[in-house]
Amino acid sequence: MENGASMTNHEAKTASTITIKGILNLLMESIDETHGLKRVLSLGMGDPSLYSCFHTTSVAQEAVVDTLQSQKFNGYAPTVGLLQTRRAIAEYLSCDLPYKLSSDDVFITSGCTQAIDVSVAMLARPGANILLPRPGFPIYELCAAFRQVEVRHYDLLPEKGWEVDLDAIEALADQNTVALVIINPGNPCGNVYTYHHLEKIAKTAKKLGILVIADEVYGHLAFGANPFVPMGVFGSVVPVLTLGSLSKRWIVPGWRLGWFVTNDPCGTFRKPKAVERIKKYFDILGGPATFIQAAVPSIITQTEEVFFRKTLNILKHASDVCCKEIEDIPCIFCPHKPEGSMAMMVKLNLSLLEDISDDIDFCFKLAKEESVIILPGTAVGLKDWLRITFAVDPSALEEAMKRIKSFYQRHAKNR
Ligand SMILES: *Cc1c(COP(=O)(O)O)cnc(C)c1O
Repeated sequence: MENGASMTNHEAKTASTITIKGILNLLMESIDETHGLKRVLSLGMGDPSLYSCFHTTSVAQEAVVDTLQSQKFNGYAPTVGLLQTRRAIAEYLSCDLPYKLSSDDVFITSGCTQAIDVSVAMLARPGANILLPRPGFPIYELCAAFRQVEVRHYDLLPEKGWEVDLDAIEALADQNTVALVIINPGNPCGNVYTYHHLEKIAKTAKKLGILVIADEVYGHLAFGANPFVPMGVFGSVVPVLTLGSLSKRWIVPGWRLGWFVTNDPCGTFRKPKAVERIKKYFDILGGPATFIQAAVPSIITQTEEVFFRKTLNILKHASDVCCKEIEDIPCIFCPHKPEGSMAMMVKLNLSLLEDISDDIDFCFKLAKEESVIILPGTAVGLKDWLRITFAVDPSALEEAMKRIKSFYQRHAKNR
């Protein structure tokens, strides 16, 4: 701590970084219980496990029961993860790649959140900067602030289906840029990138000499025209760190089982020192519970296609309902229909509203008056937008959209 002033700055930055959970908690607290006793409806947080239509497959539950009862997994796992777990994830991801990953490429983390922290921690060095999408996922900003890595935002382009602004990437990057983060399928925008766009991202990163961190926590949750293509497909163009977890596709976010994977068929990370450094870092992490890790091979190989298809059908239906209802609410506009993940961004037209000053004001008044929680866009980097999570029970979704509509009618400007 040789530099007192910069520590103060740095502390201020980490403390002021907005988190989604922080804002949602404030919104929850502001609900006025005396205001008609409405059931609280949250389109704020991406945890659909609360709703029976999104319960996980019995295959996953039975796999965990089996490993727990076997008495074989009550001890410590290797800090980088159980070998059979790493191997199962390597095989799972390799199905969609033009090369094979090995178990050595896979490190087991406590959810995708910890995989994000590992990526930032491994790349941090004095003066380093990282390119993050706007809108994005605030955990990246928070990790970067703790590691004193400078954040530079590039825009996602709503009129182009939330594609990466590649010109901005080239303008932002310099010799201290360590990586470019993409989230695909996207949170908060619900985008699913084409093969062609991912290829362009890979070529841009190669040209700039930076690696790509691909947050694929929503991997395979694509229900629109574009199929999900993992960034690792371009691992021989540019090294890719793939981050993922069971949380979203298997709808078990509380199980805290994720992965940090080096997609590097040309051997850039294979430098022994880099690998040793990653392994050492895992010694301080601890990792998820051993019996959950041990259940992963069964979960991955035995989950039936019908479970995945059912989830996709519900998400597709929910996003359709959402988009249709939004058409009837003049003050919000969806520039691009979601094609994947569980969330979408809509633009707020404040000029149609009487007494709403911005997205935060909108969300607090909506919570207070209608007991509906949605996330202000400011929390994900876009002021006067809203993030709507549609992975909720269909009846709750319809009811919430109805209440947003009556909220609009009550606050609409008389023209
Ligand atoms: C949910 C989410 C995560 C965190 O995943 P966990 O496995 O629950 O830790 C990471 N990135 C994005 C974009 C997410 O939406």
